[in-house]
Amino acid sequence: MTLRGAVALYARISQDRSGDELAVTRQLEDCRAEAERRGWTVADEYVDDDVSAYSGKARPAYERMLRDIEDGLRDAVIVWHMDRLHRRPIELEQFVATCTRANVSDVVTLHGDYDLGKGDGLFMARLMAAMAANESDSKRRRLKRKAVETAEAGKPKSGGPRPYGFRSDFVTHEPAEVAYFHEAAERVLAGESLQSVVRWLDASGAHTAKGNQWTPSKLRALLLAPRYWGMRTHHGQIVAKATWEPIITPEQGERLRLLLTDPSRGTHRAPRRYLLSGLLKCSKCGGTLYSAPKSGVRGYACMKGAELRGCGGTYIYAAKLEAFIAHAVLIRLDSPHLVDAMVSTAERSEVAAIGDAIVADTAQMEDLMKLWADRAMSTEEWKLARDRLEARVQANRRTLTRLTEHDAIENYLGQGEALREQWEGLNLSRQAAIVKAVLDHIVILPVVHRGRAGLDPERVAPQWRL
Ligand SMILES: [Zn+2]
Repeated sequence: MTLRGAVALYARISQDRSGDELAVTRQLEDCRAEAERRGWTVADEYVDDDVSAYSGKARPAYERMLRDIEDGLRDAVIVWHMDRLHRRPIELEQFVATCTRANVSDVVTLHGDYDLGKGDGLFMARLMAAMAANESDSKRRRLKRKAVETAEAGKPKSGGPRPYGFRSDFVTHEPAEVAYFHEAAERVLAGESLQSVVRWLDASGAHTAKGNQWTPSKLRALLLAPRYWGMRTHHGQIVAKATWEPIITPEQGERLRLLLTDPSRGTHRAPRRYLLSGLLKCSKCGGTLYSAPKSGVRGYACMKGAELRGCGGTYIYAAKLEAFIAHAVLIRLDSPHLVDAMVSTAERSEVAAIGDAIVADTAQMEDLMKLWADRAMSTEEWKLARDRLEARVQANRRTLTRLTEHDAIENYLGQGEALREQWEGLNLSRQAAIVKAVLDHIVILPVVHRGRAGLDPERVAPQWRL
């Protein structure tokens, strides 16, 4: 292990990718934990916020970090994911050039390390940047002609389902829904939980714009949408002041954003207190066990009910089970068997080949786009060719994901003993990541020895990934 005494942490919040949006604080926490695990000292944390930057372009913290690297003040970089660091391949090249000049080769992400001093590290970094850039480039091109203009003029987009609170022209207010919106926003700002506001909406017979029931996550998304305080967004970024009447003030919008994106609040998801959430299966029915405390003592249960398809026949207390599993996982990480089962060299070359194929296919897609733009091919022809390429790229990405899943374990391999000492200090999501790296799921068997105190290990059947 190389000791690093002046490490840079970088985090960026972006609403571009709604799927795996991670609060910036979470990114930082994970990066700090990574630094701690490696025994590295963090010199500075650099944070950019794409959301509030009106232009959506400037990244002052990133620029500052580059200058510090350039000045020889930093000796390694930890970033949550490569796509937080770079949005365009050219940025990666600048970054690599700066790091090379400053002799910084350790770039750590929580999804794998890139040793920029070595060929394959640089290759993977480039591949990630190319894939991320292609995604946003093709989106930009597709929408460029009309959509961007419309967005930048602050006009509503046309087509698609109408937003809550507005009629189908996307501009005229729907008074009944606006009233609900106001009250929901006020309640949340006053400290009421999303869950509780949803219960109130249900009881009042209020529905979403599509006529569905409200859920906390739907309500959260609604209250976070800048359209309600009069901002036009494009790809999740605010691009202009909207032409329509806002429903709440920008100040209220900003307060909602601060409140709802505060990770310590933990309202859009129950605070994760259960290490094995989603990992336990009932031996009787095969259903997933859910967290279900009994008189204040944490436990997991197979539950039956409206949307829960379990049998209700299995219950196990959490604390001793979690300690047992953590112990087993850490031993597993040090087992020679696991080392043998790790990514073979054959798989490594497959990863490289798939990476090449993805790069080639996306390049071809760009060529097609140019032909189409030059009217050298019809829209129909273009769609046909594009769909085939896209399908292949998708399939290759899935394979790549499968093959590189092992990378998560690689970070922990042989570290069981060291991790055991830090275990209590790691946050739950970190612990869960380690458990999930080696465990697929755990089957919980019925009680055999009734009345026995503590955990009966015979009830626990771990199914290892490797
Ligand atoms: Zn069951």
